[in-house]
Amino acid sequence: MSNSRTEKLKLIGMHCVSCAVAIEKKLRSLKGVVKAIVNFASEEAEVEYYPSKVALKDIVNAIRDIGYDVCKEEVHFTIQSISSVDEEFIIEDRVKSLSGVIDVKVSHIAKSVSVVFNPLSTNVDEIKKFIESMGYRVTSVKGEIEIEDIEGKTLKEEITKLRKVVVLSLTLALSLATYVMAGLFGVPMPYWEYRDVIGLLLSTPVILIGGRKFFIGAYKALKNRSASMDTLVSLGTGTAYIFSIAVMTGLIESPETYFEAGAVVIAFVLLGKYLELKMKIRTGEAVRKLMELQARRAKVIRDGKEIEVPIDEVRVKDIVIVKPGEKIPVDGIIVDGQGYVDESMLTGEPIPVFKRERDPVIAGTILKSGSLKIIATRVGKETILSQIIKLVKQAQMGKPPIQRLVDKVAGYFAWIVIAIAILTFSYWYLIANIQLNLAILFTASVLLVACPCALGLATPTAIVVGVGRAAELGIIIKNMEVLEKIPKLTTMVFDKTGTLTKGEPEVTDIYVVNGYREHDLLKIAYAAEKRSEHPLAQAIVKKAKQVINEVNTEPEFFNSIPGQGVIAKVNGKTIIVGNDKLMKAYNVNLTPVNDLVKKLREDGKTVIYVAVNGELAGIIALADTPREYAFQVISYLKRKRLKVVMLTGDSRITAKAIARNLGIDEVIAEVLPEDKTDVIKNLQRKGEVVSMVGDGINDAPSLTQADVGIAMGGGTDIAKEAGDIVLVRNDLRGVVTALEIGEAIRRKIAFNLFWAFIYNVVLIPIAAGALYPLTGLILRPEFAGLAMALSSISVTSNALTLKRWRPPKSL
Ligand code: ADP
Ligand code: MG
Repeated sequence: MSNSRTEKLKLIGMHCVSCAVAIEKKLRSLKGVVKAIVNFASEEAEVEYYPSKVALKDIVNAIRDIGYDVCKEEVHFTIQSISSVDEEFIIEDRVKSLSGVIDVKVSHIAKSVSVVFNPLSTNVDEIKKFIESMGYRVTSVKGEIEIEDIEGKTLKEEITKLRKVVVLSLTLALSLATYVMAGLFGVPMPYWEYRDVIGLLLSTPVILIGGRKFFIGAYKALKNRSASMDTLVSLGTGTAYIFSIAVMTGLIESPETYFEAGAVVIAFVLLGKYLELKMKIRTGEAVRKLMELQARRAKVIRDGKEIEVPIDEVRVKDIVIVKPGEKIPVDGIIVDGQGYVDESMLTGEPIPVFKRERDPVIAGTILKSGSLKIIATRVGKETILSQIIKLVKQAQMGKPPIQRLVDKVAGYFAWIVIAIAILTFSYWYLIANIQLNLAILFTASVLLVACPCALGLATPTAIVVGVGRAAELGIIIKNMEVLEKIPKLTTMVFDKTGTLTKGEPEVTDIYVVNGYREHDLLKIAYAAEKRSEHPLAQAIVKKAKQVINEVNTEPEFFNSIPGQGVIAKVNGKTIIVGNDKLMKAYNVNLTPVNDLVKKLREDGKTVIYVAVNGELAGIIALADTPREYAFQVISYLKRKRLKVVMLTGDSRITAKAIARNLGIDEVIAEVLPEDKTDVIKNLQRKGEVVSMVGDGINDAPSLTQADVGIAMGGGTDIAKEAGDIVLVRNDLRGVVTALEIGEAIRRKIAFNLFWAFIYNVVLIPIAAGALYPLTGLILRPEFAGLAMALSSISVTSNALTLKRWRPPKSL
């Protein structure tokens, strides 16, 4: 057993000694943890554990699970030379084993290695040195993911370089192959007696120049004690080439040489790589389009003069000037001017929206006509657009759970193939006793037909394309684990206010009792509610301002009770505004209005009571309009056999009335905000797989608890919102789109994996000569190489079909 390791962690969120005890208990309960000491005063944890049994990431997650966090840092390295999925595995594996490293994500598409680490035990330099010791050159180090299209640029450069090599290799290899094939079929060829020399002359440049990439890759893998696709290609072509030289120099007896086979394989595999890269550029298009929305420069007013500056020099509170046809460079508020703004990137709404003073605008939208002066409220990496790009990029690097299994298989894959190749050779040469050259041929074909890279590409390509397409549709899938949860969903829970309804209630009725006048009731309610941010409070304040001329009463005391209402002291009187629960707590007699309240609630109105010094003064009824498409979305989900539940803090009667209109059968009402998570937990305990749809800020805990949390982003602080999926557009149809595209991505991954797997299972035996005894079929190495190249191309092009995915029409 390997040695134990001790890690010091800086903890976040402890407020008492009992927190320390809880963390200690949790840590000790983990398998593989030997010792855990949590120091409350220094906010540090010392954990001794066996890295072979438990990963640092699991330890950190365990701490997070019980509501605390660990101080972490993140760094992103750019490494141009990572070119295959195999290298991703190798780097990920090795870097993960470093002490202090919590998580590693490697992308050969983005050419990046992102490392989350514990700053108490390692640092950026150490990690960088380690990566370099593996034979990689780190070209850039960043604390943040860059909001610039470096990937696109490096991919393009790589393609241009590769094109030349491909053309050279193909020309030489195909000329040689034609010459040899024609000659073998009896066509009289010039210099036929020197065909081996010609073979050597034409194939050597292909092997050396074209094959360089593979040999270097194989060497790197070997250095890290692993085997990759490069290893297989190198071994396969190397075998054919060296065998041929041995034959030529008379070391081995054989009727043929295989110079052309080695060359053709290299040429085909390179061509395959080339086409794959061309497609890969297209997989990242969605994010690239988002990045292009970002203005590069902005006009700002400095010292009273209008000057143009690069975008990263714009600061919050700068006054930015936007002319017609220009992209709005920052998030901000219009201080002067008006115009029509195309917000389709954010809202999906193709018709430009009229905006004037005091209206908010968002970076990346386009001013169609008019002219604006904007005060910047969010710039650079803080803008909504930047947040979206960052989230999408992070998501594109994510892996669904199945990929962990695939990674494991892929890690061994090349070794298995090498083993099969050795068995193939041993069988044919030693047991079946066929000619050496045929045994070599079979062996080389096995090495060349196997395609771990189709297996490795299957998931990431589908995710990059699918997540990108989702982003274009205003859906950010943050967490790839939900892909596997979506098909298992049984229940959809919707928060009522702000999710099923617009969250902008309006006062519809006011009734007074005990001699109060309507006017006074509003005045009292206004004073009590003016400090509350609840939408109901805002509606009352708005109404009061309309009805009464001078509203300026200030409460002497104010307290809000979440999910119940508010209590305030105004002019020495105690005012309570809220629901039944709150009134009961203060013994307010509600009998006089009972029937009336019931009637209003049956109409789907929210009723709140106003009481003064413990005596009821009246009631205020409010109505909130359902969101557009709420009914359609719910019927769609019901058609998909999902149970739809409405969750709310409002009264049961009101909730039922609204639910009936929307076609929802089940209502869980009068739930306090902090109890909403328990409702989800209860459903899960009954075996339901639950998706919760709510707003990402107020409903954060229940979104986290749900198996699939969907946040209706109001479009403010998207990065901060909880939930596995964030809907950028305030459109309920996004719920259906999100579930459907998630399912489409998952299906694509499954299909790709199946295809990659079957391909290898079927073709490896054929390459090994399984059909030879019966049919005489020999899969020559050049065709093996071609098949391999085609298989990874087909996986990539299959993933690309997700680009054209459309939301269901039947909404
Ligand atoms: P929801 O679950 O619909 O988002 P909340 O949990 O925010 O609702 O509130 C539940 C109920 O508590 C409301 O329907 C209302 O009766 C009462 N309430 C909450 N806040 C206030 C307030 N500021 N003023 C009056 N009533 C309130
Ligand atoms: Mg709410």
